[in-house]
Amino acid sequence: MIKQKLEMIKSGELTSEANIMGFITKIRKDNPQINAVLRLNEKAVDEAKEIDKKIKKGKAGKLAGLGIIVKSNINVKGVICNCASKTLENYRGTYDASVISKLIAEDAIIIGMANMDEFACGASGESSAFGITRNPHAMDRIPGGSSSGSAASVAANFCDFALGSDTGGSIRNPASHCGVVGFKPSYGAVSRYGLIDLSMSLDQIGPLAYSVEDAEIIYDIIKGKDERDSTSREFVSENKNMKKILIGIPRINANSEIWGLIRKKIKEICDKNKWKYEDVELKHINLGIQTYYPINYVEFFSGTRKFDGRKYGLKIEEVCGEEVLRRILGGGEIAQAEFAGKYYRRALKAKKIIEEEFEKAFEKYDILIMPTVPKLPHRIGDKVTFYDMYTYDSLSVLANLAEIPAISVPVEKLYEIPVGIQIMAKRGNDNFLLEISKMFE
Ligand code: GLN
Repeated sequence: MIKQKLEMIKSGELTSEANIMGFITKIRKDNPQINAVLRLNEKAVDEAKEIDKKIKKGKAGKLAGLGIIVKSNINVKGVICNCASKTLENYRGTYDASVISKLIAEDAIIIGMANMDEFACGASGESSAFGITRNPHAMDRIPGGSSSGSAASVAANFCDFALGSDTGGSIRNPASHCGVVGFKPSYGAVSRYGLIDLSMSLDQIGPLAYSVEDAEIIYDIIKGKDERDSTSREFVSENKNMKKILIGIPRINANSEIWGLIRKKIKEICDKNKWKYEDVELKHINLGIQTYYPINYVEFFSGTRKFDGRKYGLKIEEVCGEEVLRRILGGGEIAQAEFAGKYYRRALKAKKIIEEEFEKAFEKYDILIMPTVPKLPHRIGDKVTFYDMYTYDSLSVLANLAEIPAISVPVEKLYEIPVGIQIMAKRGNDNFLLEISKMFE
């Protein structure tokens, strides 16, 4: 918990050096089994010592001494940011992403870079070129993805918090499977400058943390308009009467036992706070996957054209894994067929319809709630078709398509496996969403 940890550091009970050393020792001990961290920042301990000096002088920032694990698709200057791909195996960040500059300015320390699905394409943590990540709370299961290493790092206590990216659920999905909090902000709320994109009209960076409060602390530091990302902007949440909350529960397919846990939680919280809830019909939300993937394929294909072997040494098609290749080949096909407007433009139209459907729902409901993931994570080694893999995303892609904020908060476990409840709010109501989500912890 960030607040308590900061208190300890401030009072001198814990130094930032000891904090960072503690994490590094834990990573050295447990990471060989979990494989959540790909690289340690060799300078982390030295940086911590410098921060300790600042703390003594009373000149340290808001996150002084805290340790972060960063997803390997976010640029950190001088550190290997390989997107868990052979394509960028030896690529060192040449600059800091805006989120990194903001966190460093508050004296947080980067402990290392997280494993992930290759180029963030995946929902299981199995497609990394550098080995699969295990779920610290269910070691024989996948941790979810694509921010697999970021979620597993929080679950395994390797850091104070982690950063991930979420294009169609990649923060929330592994957060749900690993029993931690994962927050995807509204599209544009956090600068994407320095993120190696998967699908630029859907990507957002966000925190993975031990609690909603922690996620909020991080979000408040990384959010805001950035000159270097023209889609970024300042959002201010609407004022809401916390005594009169109406929750909508969209009818959508998911495992019935998972739905059972979610409904139980909603009832419990509503009884306690005298809030109301009801089912709501959103007509097009079952088209999430069909809408999401064509957009993702085409934008990913176009984004990967820079990895042609001239600048980074290796041509992506020659060294990438199966899922990345599928998207490049598929995305190329779709892009070629584009003159007919058959897929991409159609998908964009569907995106708009889904967006409007959510906008309308938020005229009536303060928040919408559903599971984060429709099923439990599979066992490592189970054969899963790519189609089955895509169904993991059916409930999480919606927030990206609608550009709204969404968070996954752990509820009860099912057969010893963590399950997350997904709470969504109107675009721009990010801080309100965080506020209300604390009630569900
Ligand atoms: N699983 C989804 C995909 O493979 C989402 C990935 C993500 O959010 N980065 O595209």
